[in-house]
Amino acid sequence: MKIDYVNLKTQWLNERKDLLPIIDKVLSTGEFVGGDEVNKFEKNILKLTNSKYSVSLNSGTDALTLALYVLGVRKNDEVITAPNSFIASASCIVHLGAKPVFVDVDKDLNINPDLIEKKITKKTKAIIAVHLTGKMAKMSKIISIAKKYKIKVIEDAAQSIGSKFKKKLAGSYGEIGCFSAHPLKNLNAFGDSGYLVTNKKYLADNIKKLSNHGMENRNKVKYSGYVSRMDNLQAAILNYHLKNLNKVISIRRRNAKLYEKHLDTENLELPFEDQDAFDTYHTYVIKTKVRTKLIDYLKKRNIGTAIHYPVPIHLQPAFKKYGYKKGDFPITEKLCREILTLPINQYLSPEQIIYISKSINSFFKNI
Ligand SMILES: *Cc1c(COP(=O)(O)O)cnc(C)c1O
Repeated sequence: MKIDYVNLKTQWLNERKDLLPIIDKVLSTGEFVGGDEVNKFEKNILKLTNSKYSVSLNSGTDALTLALYVLGVRKNDEVITAPNSFIASASCIVHLGAKPVFVDVDKDLNINPDLIEKKITKKTKAIIAVHLTGKMAKMSKIISIAKKYKIKVIEDAAQSIGSKFKKKLAGSYGEIGCFSAHPLKNLNAFGDSGYLVTNKKYLADNIKKLSNHGMENRNKVKYSGYVSRMDNLQAAILNYHLKNLNKVISIRRRNAKLYEKHLDTENLELPFEDQDAFDTYHTYVIKTKVRTKLIDYLKKRNIGTAIHYPVPIHLQPAFKKYGYKKGDFPITEKLCREILTLPINQYLSPEQIIYISKSINSFFKNI
């Protein structure tokens, strides 16, 4: 048995018959940039995020950057976020000339709300709450801190479409919810794509314009913008994938349950789902003190794994100029040494998950 960590070729093989006529139809309209599929996608995403307005974009990174921009984040402002995330949730802050102010995380891998207040200064404009792995950050506390200090909350829900915290959907807590539809996300395009949602019309309108060169119409530009639009073709693929999203999430949740049932937890820490939460398992991250040996052992058994992420953002060379150093965020740094992502994608069979679990159990028996 060979189990790759990602399996996008299988996705195409499964969907090819349905998608080839869709692709043909969309390209035959001659609408490549903007078009019916894009408009349809923007409507479709509202239900999934319980939001009033949405903007389709070219990436999750631009969703975050444009969100910060329309909320007024500029040079020398500060934005609070977590140091263990995909690099984009901090680069977006840097792009605007603002300073990323990191706050250590909790054992759920998300920002620890109890540590936020002491990092707030007069310059703090926003908090980016990252919902890592498909599990949402503790939003009630984050929202109440933000209210108290009158700062904005942006959700980096790139990994968490359909996830819930206290029965409320990802993207519906903050001022703006940002999502990625990168091929590796649970709702994926066949290339780069992203989108964002908000309940404020003026924010959506401004972002829509900014994503399209800042054009009010063909001949009028009030603010210089960007090229951050979603292609009509990617929108068509996303509209198709949307129909299967619930199934994708339920298979991933089933896979997580199978791991819980079959993995011996004596030497491992497994992800947990809080009461009132609904986790969508973009990744399944376990913690172990003997990670390297376990990776090698699994590799010999043809089981692929990944690490999300081995280097915390504050220790990346690009962030050196902000003066962070080793030891600044002890929980994050410890996690970076211990976390390991097991395969959980929707193309894995129960037998494969059990095989992975048994392989891990036998590793620990023989260690
Ligand atoms: C994927 C991801 C992003 C960036 O999304 P892109 O569409 O790749 O630009 C941002 N934040 C997190 C947490 C992500 O996982």
